[in-house]
Amino acid sequence: MSARLHAGVGESYGEVLEFDPDFRYLAQGVDVRLRADDRLGRFHDRGGRFEVRTVDLDSLDEIASGSDLTLVATGKGGLASLFPLDAERTVYTEPQRQLLMVTLQGPDHSDETWGYRSAGGTHSVFNLHADFGEAWIGPYLHKDVGPSWSFRGFAKPDSPWVERFDTATDAHSARQAVVDLYREYFPKDAVEVEQLRVIEQDPHSWLRGAVTPTVRRGVGRTAGGHVVAAIGDTAISFDPVAGQGAQNTVVQVAALVAAVRDHVGDFTEQWLSAQFEKHWEARGHGAAETTRLFSNGKDYDGITAQIDELREVARAHKREVKVGLNGFIIARDTEKEARETLREIVAKANRPAVEGFRNAVKQAGSSTGDGKGMWADSSFEDLVQYNDGFARS
Ligand SMILES: Cc1cc2nc3c(=O)[nH]c(=O)nc-3n(C[C@H](O)[C@H](O)[C@H](O)COP(=O)(O)OP(=O)(O)OC[C@H]3O[C@@H](n4cnc5c(N)ncnc54)[C@H](O)[C@@H]3O)c2cc1C
Repeated sequence: MSARLHAGVGESYGEVLEFDPDFRYLAQGVDVRLRADDRLGRFHDRGGRFEVRTVDLDSLDEIASGSDLTLVATGKGGLASLFPLDAERTVYTEPQRQLLMVTLQGPDHSDETWGYRSAGGTHSVFNLHADFGEAWIGPYLHKDVGPSWSFRGFAKPDSPWVERFDTATDAHSARQAVVDLYREYFPKDAVEVEQLRVIEQDPHSWLRGAVTPTVRRGVGRTAGGHVVAAIGDTAISFDPVAGQGAQNTVVQVAALVAAVRDHVGDFTEQWLSAQFEKHWEARGHGAAETTRLFSNGKDYDGITAQIDELREVARAHKREVKVGLNGFIIARDTEKEARETLREIVAKANRPAVEGFRNAVKQAGSSTGDGKGMWADSSFEDLVQYNDGFARS
């Protein structure tokens, strides 16, 4: 991966950090429709029946009445409302970012493509802007055209990127939004990005939207009282920033299949609820927390909730945790003005001082239990200490 972190706007705009980590393995996104084809083939081979149709509440009732076990995987919308929201486990009431995704064809996956970013080429190109969001392009295997490139953008709330993403209404306007984004914010990559073209034969090559991370109860009942269980996004939906959704679904299904194999008797509400609780404890909760850590920018309530939770875990182990919060307040009449001031402060940061601080906390972090400490993933913006002499007026 080749990553570049940028900050500021106008004259203060600049690249503040670059790193090209070698993960020592090659990764490639594969069109899920290719993988689904393979899975469906195996399902057929084992005697499964596959039907494509819309299932409404009535037809779900019918399906559940004639089945030993009914699992609902209609994603975040669909039939998810059948499963009550778990208010205790659902932290957010609104999306934390706006998303834009588009798959494009163009330069091949050779060493030359993006080769100017670092020796060797053949990497994902990752650009972050401390205030506005993240833009990633990586190699992808598309069902029709094969080697291609997938763009994924995450815009922070109030970022001007949100408006830009909103201009995407089809694959062509999505491509244009991406090209314009690179021209304005990441011009060094714009020449390459301009070579990317729409995959005309695939109307589903793009996506725009936002996810409110939500946890539901794992079991519901149809109008006729039949028990049904939620899997995947229907049960727990994540902001895609940490890439947890599909992984979590696979883990949930694998555990369920193993449990079903060993189970004797009916698939009752109690049994299915117990399976969901096991999944929440073993994986879902951790995945949701990981995603929360990636979605930085918590408000006071968000931090309070996190501290309360930490204390609860500590209490269960008969321990006590003391928490100190180092907060900096920017008091302005509106949140917009406060955010502008924050941007100005970050732009005026004394870079050598911030970098010195980064080195110091990294060294301190290496002596902690996990060998990293709490600053390991902090961005330049996170490390600017507004009243500690790192900002210039
Ligand atoms: C931009 C983006 C990037 C992502 N990146 C990652 C990643 O890197 N790693 C990762 O693990 N996860 C990632 N995810 C999350 C991942 O895509 C989801 O978690 C996963 O697709 C959930 O699978 P699912 O089967 O539960 O739901 P879905 O994939 O949403 O499938 C539900 C299906 O049900 C159909 N449906 C809905 N209603 C009905 C109905 N009433 N009747 C019949 N059919 C219906 C829908 O059309 C859809 O085909 C990403 C998501 C997004 C948006």
